[in-house]
Amino acid sequence: MTLNASGPEPVRPTANGTDPNAPLVKLRGLTKSYEEAGTSHIVLHAIDADIREGEFAVLLGKSGSGKSTLLNLIGGIDVPTAGEVWIKDTCLTCLDERHLTLFRRDHIGFVFQFFNLIPTLTALENVSLPYELRRAGKKETEKKEAEKSARNLLERVGLESRMNTYPDKLSGGEQQRVAIARALVHRPLLILADEPTGNLDEDTGQTVLKLLLELTRDAGKTLIMATHSPEVVPYANMVYHISEGKLVTEIEYQKAKQRQ
Ligand code: ADP
Ligand code: MG
Repeated sequence: MTLNASGPEPVRPTANGTDPNAPLVKLRGLTKSYEEAGTSHIVLHAIDADIREGEFAVLLGKSGSGKSTLLNLIGGIDVPTAGEVWIKDTCLTCLDERHLTLFRRDHIGFVFQFFNLIPTLTALENVSLPYELRRAGKKETEKKEAEKSARNLLERVGLESRMNTYPDKLSGGEQQRVAIARALVHRPLLILADEPTGNLDEDTGQTVLKLLLELTRDAGKTLIMATHSPEVVPYANMVYHISEGKLVTEIEYQKAKQRQ
């Protein structure tokens, strides 16, 4: 993959003058288990991790290891069995359902493996929606603003000629480019991408990865990506591996494998 980048960027100080080393995402004792036929199946076990603002963190691990579960917990889509998720000064796991939904809507951008666009909305409407929701979207000026931001982003992902097209008329790669624009339009604190190229052919996947990395980096956003694409590793600030319910750095994981 060729990106206009020379390795990981340094961590940017936060704009509001708070401690630049304070993590944006803090996981403490994060545990998720499922009850199955009377026995407990532990997917994630007492995970502690810090991810700083502006970082790009990659999440590796074989299928079924818990990557999606972890991303869904960080994004407030799922609730843990035990432990805490903090994003900046907010304890997500302390919020009630309504406040969690609002937090997620306002501060998180998601890119999923299967795009998850709304089929009855055009590309432009799909991308405008998070921005409109965040600003309550009632006033005409806010609608215009949302549309302007959405248009800008759709241009950035090369879809200026497909703005009024519905998802079922777009290719997989085009749908994922719409999804990337949608994940960024409301200027979230954090972007979570769950195998964003998992449903695309290799060339299209590379284009999508390149766009996702460039756009998040240019916006100074924190990105956590679960992936099977090893070519993103050189661009990451942190590479984690989920194995047997634990989150370890890739270096620790490789060392442990050599000892076996
Ligand atoms: P990955 O994304 O790494 O492929 P997942 O996070 O989707 O893995 O799944 C991790 C484990 O959690 C798997 O063993 C899966 O079967 C289990 N799991 C996920 N969701 C549920 C659920 N709703 N009920 C029971 N087990 C689940
Ligand atoms: Mg998954």
